[in-house]
Amino acid sequence: MPSSDSPSPIIGDGSAYDAVVVGASLAGCATAIQLGRAGLRVAVVEKQPDPSAYKRICSHFIQASAVPALERLGLLEPMEAAGARRSRMHMWTRWGWIEAPPERAARGVNLRREVLDPMVRTTAAETPNVEMMLGWSAERLLRDGGAFAGVVARNREGEERELRGRLTVGADGRDSRIAELSEVPVKTYPHNRIAYGGYFEGPAPEHSPDASLWFLDPHWAAAFPTDGDLTFYAAMPTKERLPEFKEDPGAALVRFLADVPEAPPIRESRLTEPVMGKIDMTNRMRKPTADGLALIGDAALATDPLFGVGCGWAFQSAEWLVESVAPALQGREPLEQGLERYRRRHAHQLRGHAFFIHDYATGRRMNPSERLMFSAAARDPKAAEIMEAFGTRQIRPQQMLPRLLPRAIAVNARHALAR
Ligand SMILES: Cc1cc2nc3c(=O)[nH]c(=O)nc-3n(C[C@H](O)[C@H](O)[C@H](O)COP(=O)(O)OP(=O)(O)OC[C@H]3O[C@@H](n4cnc5c(N)ncnc54)[C@H](O)[C@@H]3O)c2cc1C
Repeated sequence: MPSSDSPSPIIGDGSAYDAVVVGASLAGCATAIQLGRAGLRVAVVEKQPDPSAYKRICSHFIQASAVPALERLGLLEPMEAAGARRSRMHMWTRWGWIEAPPERAARGVNLRREVLDPMVRTTAAETPNVEMMLGWSAERLLRDGGAFAGVVARNREGEERELRGRLTVGADGRDSRIAELSEVPVKTYPHNRIAYGGYFEGPAPEHSPDASLWFLDPHWAAAFPTDGDLTFYAAMPTKERLPEFKEDPGAALVRFLADVPEAPPIRESRLTEPVMGKIDMTNRMRKPTADGLALIGDAALATDPLFGVGCGWAFQSAEWLVESVAPALQGREPLEQGLERYRRRHAHQLRGHAFFIHDYATGRRMNPSERLMFSAAARDPKAAEIMEAFGTRQIRPQQMLPRLLPRAIAVNARHALAR
């Protein structure tokens, strides 16, 4: 059997795909499902051979902004049938809880990746026109003239296949090899918090099935009720707290959550599997397009998980890409037109959010304007509603600020006068 150092000669199967997608997780599968349904031929290359593989480090709170995309994919119903929790958000701040009126607050979705990832992958594999290649890793990019034109994929036996496609899609996560190989411009922003979390069974936290987040400023904690009557407890303190978490992650997590104000019942709960942690979460923002190539999900934008946006944006960016490039792949316009449309849409939707997320990811405390808005949102239901729409990424900062700032000034002035 050839070793990976001496690969066997490339086998080209002679077929050309409309798109070659690298990565069969949320973003890659969502893209394949939509392209396949549009009658386009797609190869999906995934390095994990196991169809039930899943991303292990993730709190999987999918923001309300992504729910319409999940519905259009036909995934929301099976997710609910598999026990997904439909959660709103309650945010603790030192000024009180921020809680939008329940009838006005949108609900996100929470389902363990252990259940979600295989479900999305099976749906993609069963979609007409989609060829799922599990156990194949994209190793090199192919070029046709100046444009990217697919990948060379290698399996564990060292066999190599050339997969040619008019569009190459990097859906291979925050350390994207496709992004690296294509040399698209990348900007990095420091991240100064650590993330530890684990599944517990026991009494439900107070707001269940809603999620509770504690903005301890600068530390952060959360309780996410999820399927199987489990709660995922998460701690994201700044890096000074790393030694205690490294020494005994389980004990540190329980201590941390039990110490937050109005603490959830973590001490009365039982950890069901080992606590997981992630220390390096440098934010990466890449140009999401090049000639013949697009990046989606974390490959395009990998941000601080504190705000729980990556899964939702994986589904949403897949949809933006397919809507942008399908006309070109169906032969109705040049591909660069579709790619440029996607680049602009990605920037329009996510750049403003990314700016604020990256700024807070340094581990700093809230600045005066954040204190103004958070305190007002804790005091006033309308301000809470605007904050909730922003936090669940249904509105962009450019839409949130002109609505929330004037209201926050008025609310806090009234509050000061009343005192
Ligand atoms: C601690 C933590 C907590 C988080 N919590 C949340 C949360 O609560 N809510 C939320 O929305 N997001 C959260 N996220 C972010 C979320 O996990 C990611 O944003 C999401 O998984 C991105 O999906 P993706 O499909 O882009 O990439 P990934 O899920 O990373 O998938 C990439 C896929 O590409 C495959 N691959 C990689 N390289 C190759 C290759 N060369 N060839 C073939 N296949 C390859 C991988 O095997 C994998 O299947 C969290 C992240 C962390 C670190």
